[in-house]
Amino acid sequence: MSKVNLLDLTRDGMVSFFKEIDEKPFRAPQVFKWLHQFVADEFDQMTNISKSLKEKLKEVCVIQGPEIITEQLSKDGTIKWALKTEDGQAIETVFIPDGERGTLCISSQVGCLLDCSFCSTAQQGFNRNLSTAEIVGQVWLAARRIGALRTTGKRRISNVVFMGMGEPLLNFDAVVDSCNILLDDFGYGLSKRRVTISTSGVVPGLDKLIEKADVALALSLHAANNELRNELVPVNKKYPIEVLLPSVKRYLDDSSASKKVTIEYVMLRGVNDTPSHAREMARLLKELPCKINLIPFNPFPKNKYKTSHTSDISKFADILVKKGFVVVTRRTRGDDIDAACGQLVGEVNDRTRREERKKKKEERIAIKNLN
Ligand code: SAH
Repeated sequence: MSKVNLLDLTRDGMVSFFKEIDEKPFRAPQVFKWLHQFVADEFDQMTNISKSLKEKLKEVCVIQGPEIITEQLSKDGTIKWALKTEDGQAIETVFIPDGERGTLCISSQVGCLLDCSFCSTAQQGFNRNLSTAEIVGQVWLAARRIGALRTTGKRRISNVVFMGMGEPLLNFDAVVDSCNILLDDFGYGLSKRRVTISTSGVVPGLDKLIEKADVALALSLHAANNELRNELVPVNKKYPIEVLLPSVKRYLDDSSASKKVTIEYVMLRGVNDTPSHAREMARLLKELPCKINLIPFNPFPKNKYKTSHTSDISKFADILVKKGFVVVTRRTRGDDIDAACGQLVGEVNDRTRREERKKKKEERIAIKNLN
């Protein structure tokens, strides 16, 4: 029988596990605390746990975090890790420092099923969902490394955002359990306003999220009409804007973590960045409590888009500000190490064969054009 990885368990899950192995349930939160608050990687570090329990735990379970393939430090302090899972898949995690605080951007899937046209993870295709241990393991590992590095004073992970590889709401159960470990006072003890799920708009997931985890919400909008959004964020064909925004609104109504949704909008030159796009967006979001994050497009090889001109981004932002919106233009961080939004790529063994299918489609179109 394979050993249980303790990083996979929520606090309740650990209590049940301890009962199963005939141990006192009150020991579970103690071990949970060692794992997440003291980021222990060995049972012998758990000084308030008896020797006999430690020996038993060594027999039936493990503490197995992801393995570091590379660790890159950017000039601006951003750290990017390429991590290897047990089955040899690669994912990426990024830490973006801000004074003594910092945001950790984590992945939820190996690759991504959605095929957003401006995202490099999309180009990689999709392999599988990450387990809870692999998601929480990113936070556990980053906390250990940041503690060990201590390059510029004390830093800590104050925010966690699901903005790495993958669509979190398509890996629902593992993402929910991970959020609850992040929020748990015996776990990472993060405030629910500081754990953010970013979604491209998977409505069924969003509709059931509030019952399971109350966290902050970000929506990758990128276009304010269905025609353009279908092109940029193809999941929009399934859940169009008029279905998506009411679902977001319902989430905000029920959530105490997220009173406003963060609208993410990647700025693509000549595609979605004109004043008329800004006015259209202002009309669309008029009734929605939100703040708007404009993200200059981060280029990557084999992609047709260009970053908007800075002056166009300012004009776009001004129009929205004049209409009363809170707008932040995101600074690109860690771009010298390709750690910026949409630049995260792993070695994805693509089970969806996206590149192959795209090539075939292009060939079919070329043949059609010839005829
Ligand atoms: N699937 C989730 C989370 C991953 S993407 C989502 O769609 O929200 C995190 C953010 O980075 C999203 O807003 C995404 O649209 C944005 N992004 C993706 N590729 C980008 C690129 N090349 N340049 C800038 N932002 C990008």
